[in-house]
Amino acid sequence: MSKLNHLEIYKLLDKTNCRQCGVLTCLAFAAAVMRGDKRLKDCPSLDKAVIEKLRESIEPERADKEDGDQALEELRNRIKRTDLASLAGRLGAAYDRDRLAVKCLGKDFYIDRSGNMTSDCHNNRWVMIPLLNYVVRGVGLDPVSNWVTFRELNDGAIRAPLFAQRCEKPFKELVDKHTDLFELIVDIFDGKPAAGSFDSDISVVVYPLPKVPMLICYWKKEADLDSSLSLFFDSTVNENLDIGSIYTLAVGLLTMFEKIVLTHGKPA
Ligand code: SF4
Repeated sequence: MSKLNHLEIYKLLDKTNCRQCGVLTCLAFAAAVMRGDKRLKDCPSLDKAVIEKLRESIEPERADKEDGDQALEELRNRIKRTDLASLAGRLGAAYDRDRLAVKCLGKDFYIDRSGNMTSDCHNNRWVMIPLLNYVVRGVGLDPVSNWVTFRELNDGAIRAPLFAQRCEKPFKELVDKHTDLFELIVDIFDGKPAAGSFDSDISVVVYPLPKVPMLICYWKKEADLDSSLSLFFDSTVNENLDIGSIYTLAVGLLTMFEKIVLTHGKPA
């Protein structure tokens, strides 16, 4: 959804200038929302459903952060009640010095008994919620190398258009410009070439989490056919991770690969 301006917000208000939101007029309130000084929920006459619908377009970063902060808090509370040592084997992780060590793209991420996460990797925000979800909700099924699309996953169909737009499309554009990206993925992140998968020209398997592999396939431009790129997931993935975390993990991977390209092939 594109960003609204303050007049479009104003149109949705009661226009009674009742001041219950703490400012003098509805117009001033709309402008304050756009500046970030007021929240949509500060107007008691705005319908909750409308607020939810608008929140993502008006306050996307703040909405994401708030949702993320709340989810992190809940996950940390669950970790505190979890016996991490007993989970290590099931999750393909290790337990050492009161911490669970989970490999993510060849790097160790450590979770302590309070749910705090540390790693040598600076850009770890994208992996925090998926990793904690993997720990508290994952069944730990072993992958079977039966690859399926995001759309085929449980609840994947609803998010599939967004996934194609925010993940696969920019990923394809990145590879179009930097065809050496796959070599970097193999070199830096312990990726495994998977030659010929789905008749692709290049394909690599990466492990964002020990039991959550992703297969990245790229088809080069050919005559009138444009290039294309698809991400595939192991058919067991729904047992090991929720759909929201799968989405976050894939978009996070893309963000990391973009940074790698920007830093001329060095790890971000
Ligand atoms: S509370 Fe809502 S209706 Fe009242 S002045 Fe503020 S924005 Fe307008």
